[in-house]
Amino acid sequence: MTEAETLLIEQAAAKLGPKAVITDTREIEPWVSDWRGRVHGAAPAMLAPASTDEVAEIVRLAAEYRVPLVPQGGNTGMAAGATPPADGSALLLSMRRMNRIRSVSAENRLAVAEAGVILATLHDAAHEVGMRFPLTLGARGSCTLGGLTSTNAGGTQVLKFGTMRSLVAGVEAVLPDGSIHNGLSGLKKDNRGYSLDQLLIGAEGTLGVVTAVALRLVPAIAGRAVAWAGVTDPIKALDLLRFLEARTNVIEGFELLPQDSLDLVLKHIPNTRSPLDGGHAWNVLIEATTSDPDTDIGAELERLLAAALQQGLAGDAVLAANEGQAEAFWKLRDDISEAERTEGQTLAHDISVPVADMPAFILDASAKVEAAFPGVTATGFGHLGDGNIHFHVRAGAHAAPDWYDREGEQITRFVDDLVTAAGGSISAEHGIGQLKRAEFARLASPGRIHALRAIKHALDPLGIMNPGKLVP
Ligand SMILES: Cc1cc2nc3c(=O)[nH]c(=O)nc-3n(C[C@H](O)[C@H](O)[C@H](O)COP(=O)(O)OP(=O)(O)OC[C@H]3O[C@@H](n4cnc5c(N)ncnc54)[C@H](O)[C@@H]3O)c2cc1C
Repeated sequence: MTEAETLLIEQAAAKLGPKAVITDTREIEPWVSDWRGRVHGAAPAMLAPASTDEVAEIVRLAAEYRVPLVPQGGNTGMAAGATPPADGSALLLSMRRMNRIRSVSAENRLAVAEAGVILATLHDAAHEVGMRFPLTLGARGSCTLGGLTSTNAGGTQVLKFGTMRSLVAGVEAVLPDGSIHNGLSGLKKDNRGYSLDQLLIGAEGTLGVVTAVALRLVPAIAGRAVAWAGVTDPIKALDLLRFLEARTNVIEGFELLPQDSLDLVLKHIPNTRSPLDGGHAWNVLIEATTSDPDTDIGAELERLLAAALQQGLAGDAVLAANEGQAEAFWKLRDDISEAERTEGQTLAHDISVPVADMPAFILDASAKVEAAFPGVTATGFGHLGDGNIHFHVRAGAHAAPDWYDREGEQITRFVDDLVTAAGGSISAEHGIGQLKRAEFARLASPGRIHALRAIKHALDPLGIMNPGKLVP
């Protein structure tokens, strides 16, 4: 521990009390590696403020002693953005004690909640007043609103409601000089120049500490219908989506799954079965919802799918008969990564290209990767309607145990080059963190990098906010 770190820790303990300063290595240990367990860091202390003023106090001390802070929520991020450096040169700033929901208003359609509130807790609070916070994702039981905001997270409902950027109405944050920005009024219109709130969304903790957010709510769901359809290829899948969207606004989830991925789920995940008989090369999972209790959402989706079948957009389709079956359909989608892990080594890429180009990209990129790296299986699944898929490359049963370490970087560079050539993004929803920083530096335009560095330097000239992340 450096002298500066010792002084900061002493002062923080004196000002904020022992609960806010954790130095017991056993308590810190679970939080210094990333969720996937690939990156391991170290931190001499974990600071755990319980209020915005306490965060401001800590940030002022960090600036005074020039000790960097690594903000952390649920540590479920996929880019190791919340993992501290391995040399122990930064302190963890855990936001999990800031877990108060300040208000939930059905009238304003707004919730104001602190950064450490778990996503599932907010879902419940909104539900209690007949409303809904529509963003959801697999980590909802442990990820926090501060982390979701700072990674501009997406999830499965982006098609209809957008990413966090569309759902955050305002941000309260402590800036790197210790001042507090309060943007929580939730104004629908506010044109006072640059939007600091939007700058903080997706900033991955490099421009300040998000302490609370105002979030847009929508009316609670009165009914939902979930369907499964078999299609010949991703091109037909996108045709099907466009067909549905042209006739209704009830579609809020549309996930693409290759049969190959479904087969892995059926092989490795207990109690799963295919919704359709007969092999379809590709599948789509469709979710439709309504907030109108008088709409028979099941009948509506059934009618639309029957029309789509008649036009040859899908080979077959089935509607989940009840909630249990709907959950079973979703489980097939949600468990792909776990099934792949059981099968063997997998290299994951969270990428996007323009929506209309995605079907051709999946087919073309898969063929090119498989040709360039014999023995691997490349495939894409996920949020087709957002132009965002998880492009996974599997090692195959006969790969060497160190395949990931030996070939991973080369394959990723190959994939990222294809994505960039297609005008896409090498990070659709997981952020840059530390895992994608080198590739970001290699592939981003000089103008983008220059602007990022200029903004970072203007707001955080001492470089105390999450150094080594995002900004190359
Ligand atoms: C099973 C699973 C499924 C997932 N599915 C999706 C998905 O569908 N879509 C998607 O977009 N993501 C998904 N994710 C990843 C997603 O990024 C995280 O779940 C979530 O956004 C991160 O929240 P967190 O609280 O865990 O943040 P952390 O992991 O703790 O932090 C993430 C980043 O935000 C910063 N940060 C955290 N809190 C603050 C704060 N208060 N102020 C400033 N900076 C802060 C950190 O420094 C770090 O850079 C998934 C993750 C898992 C484990």
